[in-house]
Amino acid sequence: MSIPDDYDFEIFKKWMDDSFLKRNGGYQPQNLKKWYDKVEENHKPLRALLKGKTKETFEIPIKSTFINEKNPEIESIISNICSILPNIYVDNIQKEDMFYSPTISTSSHSVVKTTKFINNYAENYFKNQAYNSDKYPYADNKIKLSALLSSLGKAWSKLKTSDITFYATVSTTPFSFALMGHYGCEKDSCFRQGSNKTKHKYAIGQSRDTCVITIAVLDDKNNKLKNIARIIGYYGSITHSFHLLNLYFLDKYKEADIYESLKVLYKILFDVDKVELSEGHNFFSSKDIHKNEYGNVSLYNPTIYKIKSDYIINIDLEDIFYLSCQRCHRKEKEHRLIEIDEVLVCQECYYSSKLCEISNIRTFKTLSRFKNNNQVMDNEYSYGLPALVEKICLSCKDCNEMYYPNNKPVCEECYEVNYCECDVCGAETHEDNISTDVIFGDICISCVSEKNIEIFY
Ligand SMILES: [Zn+2]
Ligand SMILES: [Zn+2]
Ligand SMILES: [Zn+2]
Repeated sequence: MSIPDDYDFEIFKKWMDDSFLKRNGGYQPQNLKKWYDKVEENHKPLRALLKGKTKETFEIPIKSTFINEKNPEIESIISNICSILPNIYVDNIQKEDMFYSPTISTSSHSVVKTTKFINNYAENYFKNQAYNSDKYPYADNKIKLSALLSSLGKAWSKLKTSDITFYATVSTTPFSFALMGHYGCEKDSCFRQGSNKTKHKYAIGQSRDTCVITIAVLDDKNNKLKNIARIIGYYGSITHSFHLLNLYFLDKYKEADIYESLKVLYKILFDVDKVELSEGHNFFSSKDIHKNEYGNVSLYNPTIYKIKSDYIINIDLEDIFYLSCQRCHRKEKEHRLIEIDEVLVCQECYYSSKLCEISNIRTFKTLSRFKNNNQVMDNEYSYGLPALVEKICLSCKDCNEMYYPNNKPVCEECYEVNYCECDVCGAETHEDNISTDVIFGDICISCVSEKNIEIFY
């Protein structure tokens, strides 16, 4: 079942039940209708930005900052730089193509200018060498490097960058939130159905102005869009900022290109020429929600003042991380709720429930009273679930009360009062069957008559 453009709750539920959950299993919100309604209600401002649509795909043409062919001029500059900085490849093992891109992703996943990156590296290297040798030509090497980096810049500008067309989809539909972890470019995502953090995406989904952004390329083979990146978005409606978190992308694409495409997307959405990208401002209002340490950026228009509160992504935890007690409706952290009579209740309701003393099960049902011979004190009653009392206990012939079976013909109490052992045959005998004609001892009527026991007056 593919995802329809027009949907309502029934269509969404059918998709969940017959397709998505059937295939993947895992968590779904306890009250799916309530969750769906929240998703629809809480995305109105962002949908207004999408001109009333629940999702929209934008064509994003960018110039890739990465150059793939080797170039003789650049190769010669590289070999000169390497003669000054012989360990630069060794020390930056993952950055083999650094000389072929004006920007570079650093280990913290931020993007810096390649020349700045090389300069910073060189500064440390030069200092180290100078420290270890009196004759190290510190200043000379600095000047040489600076000239080489400037010719590298000139060489880049002569090269043609490659044009790439990305397709960015901004989606606020209930389908898109449920699908997090299943976009094909984020296999390690802990939001995947059935993973231990499945709930988080549903909490994000029901929160105000969140969205899922996917970046796709056109697959020439089948003319279909193929996702290459997925990121969670949040629209800060006061400052027109866009906060992006938990970026996942396919290895063969460059992070810098993906960020570049997000900047273009921002310009399209807000119809502006300027956008700034910065790292690490955004955060979730709750620590309960998983946030990756990398791939978190904010996009904002530098001409609009930054308001801190707009950088907090308010996450609605209710009905997912907090559930209502189904008796008193108090909100409780989910793990603090206890199931009684097949409903989830809070701790306080738990203590107001009653204990069936036969099964040790807690219940809010009215319990049946029965006499329990295990009780130490006389006249003490125990209580149990009516059906269990009915099934297990016996009705006492003498007092008509239910009692817990005790290998005696009547309840313990009636036994104490009404029964004794016949001194002759040893049988447990009801008082009514003890001969009143016998003065000494208790002898049953049958022993008196059968055995012709003499009666003493
Ligand atoms: Zn309660
Ligand atoms: Zn009794
Ligand atoms: Zn007897």
